[in-house]
Amino acid sequence: PHMSLPELFRQSVENYRNHVAITYFDQELTYGELFKKILSVASAFCKQGLKKGDRIALMLPNNPYYPISYYAALFCGATVVQINPMYKPEELGYILNDSGAAFIVAHLPLAPVIDAVKENTKLKQVYLASPDEPSPFDQLLQDEADAVPNVSIDPKEDVAVLQYTGGTTGRSKGAMLTHYNLVANTLQSAAFTAAVTEKGKEKVLTASPLFHVYGMTSGMNLTFYNGGNMILLPKFDVEQAVKTIMELKPTSFPGVPTMYIALLNYVKQHPMKLDSFKTCSSGSAPLPVEVLEQMKEITGAPIAEGYGLSEASPTTHRNPVIGLQKVGSIGIPFPNTDAKIFDSENGKNELGIGEVGELAIKGPQVMKGYWKMPEETKQALRDGWLFTGDLAKMDEDGYFYIVGRKKEMIIASGYNIYPVEIEDVLYEHPKVLEAAVIGVPHPYRGETVKAVIVPRNGESISEEEITSFCSERLAAYKVPKMIEFREELPKSAVGKILKRKLQEESST
Ligand code: ATP
Repeated sequence: PHMSLPELFRQSVENYRNHVAITYFDQELTYGELFKKILSVASAFCKQGLKKGDRIALMLPNNPYYPISYYAALFCGATVVQINPMYKPEELGYILNDSGAAFIVAHLPLAPVIDAVKENTKLKQVYLASPDEPSPFDQLLQDEADAVPNVSIDPKEDVAVLQYTGGTTGRSKGAMLTHYNLVANTLQSAAFTAAVTEKGKEKVLTASPLFHVYGMTSGMNLTFYNGGNMILLPKFDVEQAVKTIMELKPTSFPGVPTMYIALLNYVKQHPMKLDSFKTCSSGSAPLPVEVLEQMKEITGAPIAEGYGLSEASPTTHRNPVIGLQKVGSIGIPFPNTDAKIFDSENGKNELGIGEVGELAIKGPQVMKGYWKMPEETKQALRDGWLFTGDLAKMDEDGYFYIVGRKKEMIIASGYNIYPVEIEDVLYEHPKVLEAAVIGVPHPYRGETVKAVIVPRNGESISEEEITSFCSERLAAYKVPKMIEFREELPKSAVGKILKRKLQEESST
């Protein structure tokens, strides 16, 4: 993949000029139209001083301004800094200062958030954009495109994106993803799904946020590479998603577990088939086995679970679309990707089949390092291996299984307990809609197992029901000793259940 993202994109423009690239409600943009807008904006950015290597922040929900700004920035040779539009001034200020971004494209209603931090950052240019009303950004679209810079990009060296990690495990770090990393992961994903992909014909339901690495690669860059139609939704709203699926008949869906849970719950209440999909994928958090099984009946296409992380652009594993899919497994490593399980105590000895240790990855999608954090980089990248912080095992066929995050493993009375195993059991319970298992401090056991459960609409469950259900299926030490029922669980922008938040709330 010795190519830059702009070069890859240009190929698609040549091949699919009149195909629809983006659908956003009633707005459609063909590849040709999208490219024209990108060049205008790139030219305008350049006139206003954006140069190769500069950082430009994007703080936008999913709408066409996203891909336009993203590619315009890359055509200038700049580095895109991805920012969650839900961030509060403090979080925004941290990332702007850490990255040193001088330009930002932000969602119009976020103007007060930007104003609150602007003074204390290096920001010089703020462009506000909105798909719902005329906005200052629209001026850039009027540019003659007479100043598009002709920068030369070194794919292996030049950083295309600073992808800040969610900070679930401490200070947020900017993973430096080069053009090579992102092009590689796009091509790896394309190769892996080639058997069910008709170039120029696929429609991809993109409800995962583009500012997150999963939506960026699996929703946007992969779709563009395939000449497909990205059906953009501003966020995942289950009714809107169902309506879109019925009307536009998307052929693939890169989703996350909580989206599938919501779809499943909706279809239980309003029976229907959502069977336009040729392939559905799930990543970013563990997919409960029960959800996978039930979704099969609704979508026709089984969900192929995959795995990745910001530091790997993101995907490293996936279940094949054709061939053996293993339920509960993240599948096999992508082409050109090596994966090993190391002893999680010392990070050195390689473990055998079935043994649980830390998953490490080697491949062209692995980041260059963390932005301005040499120590953290050394910790994460050792001898060319990316240490993921996730505990996993491999079976005799080379399929991998995530058993949990190193940091989330519960140690109760000396037993290692992996929350996922217990969550899988809880999801089998017919009255359970969502569940999360965490460890909370305990005076004798060190930690004890706590389950936080959201019952299905209108259902009431007793603690005893859960305890006896679990006791029938799990060893006694794994059965939750504390159970809390809630109406909803805290979630990140991608829809991951925020266990750190649950933990904080449980220990106060
Ligand atoms: P942090 O702030 O710690 O980096 P994050 O969740 O914001 O956390 P991401 O890069 O978005 O960081 O997510 C990567 C993590 O998501 C993986 O390390 C893993 O723990 C989890 N993950 C991804 N896919 C799966 C999967 N299929 N099963 C289980 N966990 C998964």
